[in-house]
Amino acid sequence: MTQPAERLRYDIIVLSLLLALTVFILDIYVPPRFAVDALYSLVIVVSLASGSAQVIHAFAWGCTALLLIGYFISTSIILPTWLLLLNRGLFLVVVWITAILGMRLINIQRQLQKKETELQDTNRELEQLARYDSLTSVANRLYFDEELEAECDRANRGETPLSLLMIDVDYFKNYNDIMGHQEGDQCLISIAKTIRNQLRRPGDLVARYGGEEFAVILPVTTVEGAAERAEDIRRAVTKLAIYHPDARVEGPVTVSVGVASILPEKKKIDPAEIIHKADAALYRAKREGRHCVRVAED
Ligand code: GH3
Ligand code: MG
Ligand code: MG
Repeated sequence: MTQPAERLRYDIIVLSLLLALTVFILDIYVPPRFAVDALYSLVIVVSLASGSAQVIHAFAWGCTALLLIGYFISTSIILPTWLLLLNRGLFLVVVWITAILGMRLINIQRQLQKKETELQDTNRELEQLARYDSLTSVANRLYFDEELEAECDRANRGETPLSLLMIDVDYFKNYNDIMGHQEGDQCLISIAKTIRNQLRRPGDLVARYGGEEFAVILPVTTVEGAAERAEDIRRAVTKLAIYHPDARVEGPVTVSVGVASILPEKKKIDPAEIIHKADAALYRAKREGRHCVRVAED
């Protein structure tokens, strides 16, 4: 429990105690006592605010004891005993019904809170499943499409540059065929993690665009900045030194990167256009030998 909540609980307990004591004194010295007895339920109602079933329980027993003690030591009994006992019994019932209902209420609240937390956890898991790729844990294609659209709108409104990287693993089909699908999966996981580690701003987003192709959205990033990030990624993947068994590679697994950057000065940025440009640059990187970065021309 937090500090202020604990403090409040303590205050409520003290208040309930003082109230119980006052009712007890009134009960003994102020006739008629019948009306006063009803106030014991008020003690229980106040203790309800403590939010603790144990506290309510303790007060219910405390009030029961005070009611009975009051009966035995009160000095001015003016009613017949049977009526007085009936009266006390009635108030005892009222006190306990209030206490039991209070304790039930708190239990229900607690269960509701637990269910709410469980629901929040489930929602978080569902969101994770809906937005992230299950193999590599980076954003999936659906989330990428949503984010690219949102970033294009933002760039158009603020007239800020937007860059996109398209990254494709070189000769991955052969890697997969020789090493096996499971090794291929592990390779993709390592590459996704490496790409993510090269990004510096919280707004940058890595996504699995499909198969062994990744996309990176770099908001408010010029072409120079984007090309630098692309080079960092290319170098970092090579540095992973994942052995590629294909004779054409003769070295580690590598990636090719296509960079596209648009500054929405005269013309609005459109998601399909920036993807097309980055794709064309990637295709050029593949054609010009792979394991390199190519920037889309305007
Ligand atoms: P390039 O250098 O031209 O990109 O050649 P490539 O062999 O990488 O290109 P291609 O697109 O022909 O091969 C992609 C391969 O990626 C096909 C498939 O075997 C593999 N692949 C796609 N998705 C997955 C995946 O989820 N897991 C694994 N293990 N392999 C995948
Ligand atoms: Mg490939
Ligand atoms: Mg490919």
